[in-house]
Amino acid sequence: TEFISANDLASLMDVSVNEVIKVCLNMGMFVSINQRLDAEAITVIADEFGYDIEFLSAEEEETVAEIEDDEADLQPRAPIVTIMGHVDHGKTSLLDYIRSATVAKGEAGGITQHIGAYDVMTKSDKRVTFLDTPGHEAFTAMRARGAKVTDIAIIVVAADDSVMPQTREAINHAQAAGVPIVIALNKIDKPGANPDKVREELSVMNILVEEWGGKYQSQEVSAKTGAGIDDLLEKVLLEAEILELKANPDRKAVGTVIEASLDKGRGYVTTILVQTGTMEVGDIVLAGPHFGRVKAMTDHRGKKMKKAGPATPVQVLGLTGAPQAGDKIQVMDSEREARELATQRQQLAREQSMRTKKHITLDEIGRRL
Ligand code: GDP
Ligand code: MG
Repeated sequence: TEFISANDLASLMDVSVNEVIKVCLNMGMFVSINQRLDAEAITVIADEFGYDIEFLSAEEEETVAEIEDDEADLQPRAPIVTIMGHVDHGKTSLLDYIRSATVAKGEAGGITQHIGAYDVMTKSDKRVTFLDTPGHEAFTAMRARGAKVTDIAIIVVAADDSVMPQTREAINHAQAAGVPIVIALNKIDKPGANPDKVREELSVMNILVEEWGGKYQSQEVSAKTGAGIDDLLEKVLLEAEILELKANPDRKAVGTVIEASLDKGRGYVTTILVQTGTMEVGDIVLAGPHFGRVKAMTDHRGKKMKKAGPATPVQVLGLTGAPQAGDKIQVMDSEREARELATQRQQLAREQSMRTKKHITLDEIGRRL
């Protein structure tokens, strides 16, 4: 395996790439600036510059997250949906309508609060989880950090407008991530709405809707009147059925951080999405470079929860700091272990930012690719 280019290695060591090339030449190695180097070459070159290379394999960080589940332990889980589309086409309105119109079972009323994600029950009594971070920036930022949290993308296009640059970008991002797409033709209540024109424009970019013999489901909706939204959710559920989404609720929880902040009264407040396993109050968790004991959990209506299973968004209190969106969060066996790993990660981050210490880890190298 080749890890980084001569150029990247040079900048990690804070020397010019010419020096690296010269040293290589002296050792009888001909390398070019962008040539990617294997582990042995990296070790030898770094040694010449007085650096000690530590190869941190991915397994060293292996934790519960990588444990494979037995097929028999898997149970169906709710789909996790992201809404993307061009500015002003109605992403926020759609998210707001869905949140207020669909009420999670036995939870009528209550003041909804923005926690970055929420789950709803559809008319057909199925649960759907929405990431309330509209826009593909959040989507790509998460993906760039290696977090895969979206199962299905709803691409919103205003039917009184056109397919726009950000519509195309959103479609490209969803496709690059291998996430199925459902098209929402929004603002159908508007007099100027012309959904067929949008279907036509989509077909030009190879997004042919089912009504026209293609494979993409589309639904005319109004985030203002609510028209078509139940049908949109049913189409999302149909897409979810094909994916056969499953998770094992009977293991230590692993999830992804959606957002985190510091609240004056409550301390660090972290919204997470549990992806597998079940998180419980009292669990010891590790999230990026932070850890803690889950003091309390609440849903997006502020209702206290004792447990949160797969595909459940939940706000967690008790972490010792604010992890970044996209960081993995996982339940650990002991506080000692969680603290140790968190400390290690903090130290790694410090080393990276200082870049003066003569020590490079493969993990650091990997992050620069
Ligand atoms: P976003 O930028 O994609 O989040 O778009 P917004 O949800 O902020 O909507 C942009 C504007 O379009 C706002 O003024 C909304 O009230 C309006 N809007 C959104 N959906 C609809 C709809 O279905 N019908 C009508 N008439 N207006 C809508
Ligand atoms: Mg918006």
